[in-house]
Amino acid sequence: MKPIGILALQGDVEKHYKMIEKLGVRAIKARTPEDISSISALVIPGGESTTMGKLLDRFGILAPLREKIQQGFPVYGTCAGAILLAKNIENSEQLRIGTMDITVSRNAYGRQIESFETEITSPFFGDEAMTAVFIRAPIITAVKSHVEVLLSYENKAILVRQNNMLAGTFHPELTSDNRIHKYFVEHVVLKVKA
Ligand code: GLN
Repeated sequence: MKPIGILALQGDVEKHYKMIEKLGVRAIKARTPEDISSISALVIPGGESTTMGKLLDRFGILAPLREKIQQGFPVYGTCAGAILLAKNIENSEQLRIGTMDITVSRNAYGRQIESFETEITSPFFGDEAMTAVFIRAPIITAVKSHVEVLLSYENKAILVRQNNMLAGTFHPELTSDNRIHKYFVEHVVLKVKA
């Protein structure tokens, strides 16, 4: 299998890289059109989605990546990465990949609780509780009916999947729990034809 790319324009790259490598899958830091054509899937880390959108465009990979994803290329966006995948971003015209039928509201948990962590339990990922770390996180405010909600917190989707696209508003790479990355590799990357 070709390596999995971690989009390395800005943001929280290193921890995702380590998580993927720990699963025994080769990872590379991807930023050029050549990098994008040499990977089997892409993880888009957290960071600042407006900056990342502009850099995607400047590095000449925004349109090619969008097209590849539309054709089935597997992608996992966390936080800013999820914002970039969303078709609709409330009150924003920012550049985006925009391939997923979800609506997000940026920085939606408010100032006082900009960053927090909480325990999530879902039979989907086994019985053991999972620590979800939110950092100036968006809220997924709407999903189309063909988007699967895999995890929720306070009745809001926090991990969603639409075929080859996985998007989460929290940061599993900041914990030692690799269940989400493992799910991405085993059930999205290996199951979806890129
Ligand atoms: N607040 C950031 C944005 O709107 C996302 C934060 C993150 O990725 N941790 O782009």
